[in-house]
Amino acid sequence: MNWRLNSNSQIALLFLAGIFFGTVLPASAATWTVRAQPTRLVNGGPVLFQVKSPVGLESLNGTWLGHEVSFSFDTASKTWFVLAGVTLETAPGNYDLKLTGGTKAGKSPSTRISFTRKLTVARAKYPKIKVNLSVEGKFTEPSPEQQKEIQEAQAVKKDYLNRVTPEREWSGPFTPPADAAISDVFGSQRIFNDKTSSPHLGLDFRVPNGTPVEAMNDGTVLLARPLYFEGNFVVLDHGQGLLTLYLHLSEFKVKEGDQVKRGQIVGLSGGTGRATGPHLHVAVRWQGTYLDPALLMRLRLP
Ligand SMILES: [Zn+2]
Repeated sequence: MNWRLNSNSQIALLFLAGIFFGTVLPASAATWTVRAQPTRLVNGGPVLFQVKSPVGLESLNGTWLGHEVSFSFDTASKTWFVLAGVTLETAPGNYDLKLTGGTKAGKSPSTRISFTRKLTVARAKYPKIKVNLSVEGKFTEPSPEQQKEIQEAQAVKKDYLNRVTPEREWSGPFTPPADAAISDVFGSQRIFNDKTSSPHLGLDFRVPNGTPVEAMNDGTVLLARPLYFEGNFVVLDHGQGLLTLYLHLSEFKVKEGDQVKRGQIVGLSGGTGRATGPHLHVAVRWQGTYLDPALLMRLRLP
């Protein structure tokens, strides 16, 4: 048997080697796994990213839709996770989640590894039901004195509602703030005195005056004060840029700076501020943008 290969065989071998290494070399990248929950991302929706890295990491950060996200490590499942969102204004399409991790320093010094995963955002179908509501004239045509109050309230909101505390305080699921029926969903359009207002950026619970309102997750009380449109207003900071907002309360049960646990009573429901009657309006902020609270409560969170 002749062991010498002719030139054609040598070319064939090189070709096979090319295929072999061609598939093997990027395999280290293929060992990243990225999971998104829910699997169908929509504008206005929250998303839980869960990542397994090919090697042990000290830290994992990412960029998503122009936002910086900082992952936490779940030792039980050896998975990195972060709660993020898709703004209501995001157009349907494919967007990159860019990951950068710092490897654990051991025999070799820590290095940075990165990975990019493309994710598809679909368009959410928010109800276009137009409701005619009548509210007091002071909310649609405010006087100069009221306009000053509105401006002051806007300054407070601009300052507080865009805050991002890097430390995560939330853990486990976000739970309903009241055991009551939903009277208006996120994203619906409303009309006040024949003027179309911006989409409804929260979730309304049909509750009478004085119903206990519970914290949706662990956090710190960022705001507990009356504002012009919001009425008696409580904002909880859950860390990682996630805030929950509770509006139109009749009474406060917490003060700014308090630490609260999920289920703790933060106030009693009411109809203060711009409200047609007693109800609880709850909103979710993520890094300066509103997300659908109903979708957040549906996520199974670590
Ligand atoms: Zn509402």
